[in-house]
Amino acid sequence: MFERHFTPYEVTSAVIGNRIAILAPHPDDEVFGCGGSARKWSNEGKRVQAFIITSGVLPDECLEESRDIKRSNKIALRANESRAAAKVLNLPEPEFFGRQDGALLNDKDIEELLFERLQSWMPTTLVVPSIWEMHRDHRATSELGLSLAKRLDSVRRIAFYEVGVPLVPNCLEDITQCQELKWLAMNQFASQLQVQDYAEQIRGLNKFRSYTLGMEVHYAEAFYTVDKSEFKRFCETSGLSRTTQVLMAAEKERQKDQQLMTQSQQRIHELESTLEQMHQSHSWRITQPLRWLRKVLKKIK
Ligand SMILES: [Zn+2]
Repeated sequence: MFERHFTPYEVTSAVIGNRIAILAPHPDDEVFGCGGSARKWSNEGKRVQAFIITSGVLPDECLEESRDIKRSNKIALRANESRAAAKVLNLPEPEFFGRQDGALLNDKDIEELLFERLQSWMPTTLVVPSIWEMHRDHRATSELGLSLAKRLDSVRRIAFYEVGVPLVPNCLEDITQCQELKWLAMNQFASQLQVQDYAEQIRGLNKFRSYTLGMEVHYAEAFYTVDKSEFKRFCETSGLSRTTQVLMAAEKERQKDQQLMTQSQQRIHELESTLEQMHQSHSWRITQPLRWLRKVLKKIK
């Protein structure tokens, strides 16, 4: 059947081996992206560990007077939400790297920090955000994952999960049995659910992923998996970092255009207020009859 080339019609496992490391750019991606499967892998007796790379708090967040206190509170709150979600899923507490949110693409040290940690943790499968994600930190984590998977001898497979952009899967994990727990776990991220209804959206995505899986499967998580023997070819053809570079260049251009626009608007305001001052000035008012006379003379001519 033709359609089977595009999406799986049977459930399979996204991971191989017994040591599964999940890289999450922010505290919540490990649950939204693959929380149901993580619970399932753990139930199967595998060791599952989430490594959360950024604090999840942007530098310009919490700009009130007591900014520092509020920022550290927010950072702690986000980490606690991830801890609570891991507890619901009966998974070990995530490990936090606390790097700057929004700045991962320029983080020069994180790859070595992760490499050191993962070299001793020895994952067999590395689970990371997909290369089609649009968020800059998600793309950075995807690139990090590919680079680490190539360098780490223990890694035999990389599995990409979806959060913000649906991927084209080659693997669907049945999470029907874990869906209620995943729902509970997603609802631990109260600070994030105030901003956007992620839990409902991700539940919709997981529901949709059961589309090709028959009546027994109600919810699934989608992955794109690549085995170690395919890494080189995949890296050459995926164009991941090239796309990121193009996106970054486009953003720089947009910022430049925005700056120009702001400058132009400022200039217009200045000119408008100069004109207004001129109209209000004494000399403008006393020379008004002369301007009237010139108009009349023009008409006569
Ligand atoms: Zn995220």
